[in-house]
Amino acid sequence: MRFPSTGSDGEMAMSGFSSDDIGWTPIMEEAQRATRVLHPEALQLPRPDERRIMTVANQKGGVGKTTSTVNLAAGLALHGLNVLVIDLDPQGNASTALGVDHRSGVPSVYEVLLGEIGVADAAQQSTQSENLWCVPATIDLAGSEIELVTMVAREGRLKEALNAEGVERLAPDYVFIDCPPSLGLLTVNALVAAREVLIPIQCEYYALEGLGQLLRNIELVQAHLNPALWVSTILLTMYDGRTKLADQVAAEVRGHFGELALRTVIPRSVKISEAPGFGQTVLTYDPGSRGSMSYLDAAREIAERGGRKGA
Ligand code: ATP
Ligand code: MG
Repeated sequence: MRFPSTGSDGEMAMSGFSSDDIGWTPIMEEAQRATRVLHPEALQLPRPDERRIMTVANQKGGVGKTTSTVNLAAGLALHGLNVLVIDLDPQGNASTALGVDHRSGVPSVYEVLLGEIGVADAAQQSTQSENLWCVPATIDLAGSEIELVTMVAREGRLKEALNAEGVERLAPDYVFIDCPPSLGLLTVNALVAAREVLIPIQCEYYALEGLGQLLRNIELVQAHLNPALWVSTILLTMYDGRTKLADQVAAEVRGHFGELALRTVIPRSVKISEAPGFGQTVLTYDPGSRGSMSYLDAAREIAERGGRKGA
């Protein structure tokens, strides 16, 4: 039998119930996980009334933006919702994790930003779910921060592309935009195109550094380019229950952001970090792992909360 507080890959229990909950035993937890893996259709996620466009942003590198984008997207898609991921990072990590071709020359978000093709022309179906589509990023995007500077309506190019009629072919309920670790024009395009911002925060020292700058940039975009924009979701990632620091960061973030922070916290997990190497999300790579369950819980929270401010 497994030790109560660790999963198959040594992850710490965080999402949903833990063995600390009174009356909740490890065997019950295992049983619940098994049920959810064997009967994914039992989990019904509400379809939003209107399309939710969420930008996943944090200019700090390696905090879990891409990992959260692809796993939340897969969580929603595997439960029947139509999801489109826009990979807006020249590193192309989201494209890799979703099993989507992103070699140089493949129709990508770069040509979309140039206005040469539509979103639906560049979107490829992910290997992870038939409801999941991804507009890949190729290395061609690397020069675009500079190229965009001289373009007309340079901050609104992604928004325009997402508003075009062709997108209706994909009929996405959710659009996730994975940003690069910078506050340049690509991230500004993502903030202008979205209504919601999801900020992943790593439960580590320095986690909150730079957050003020991000929030100020969001306010600037709100004030001048996209009044509807708001930070709807904070997601704590890479939580390691063995460290006091992780709890301190989590408490500080909750103190500052209150209800905006999801109850679910993503544990540090080897399975989560291994999955992209196989062109997969953790939800297909190891559906029963705690990492997979935590992203599923986070996806459910996002779906159940809805996307309206003050809702
Ligand atoms: P970048 O700023 O470079 O785009 P990012 O914010 O998108 O980075 P990710 O690429 O998602 O961050 O994650 C950074 C690294 O941490 C990756 O190697 C990823 O596999 C790993 N990682 C992310 N989340 C977890 C987790 N919960 N447990 C363990 N490893 C994780
Ligand atoms: Mg990334």
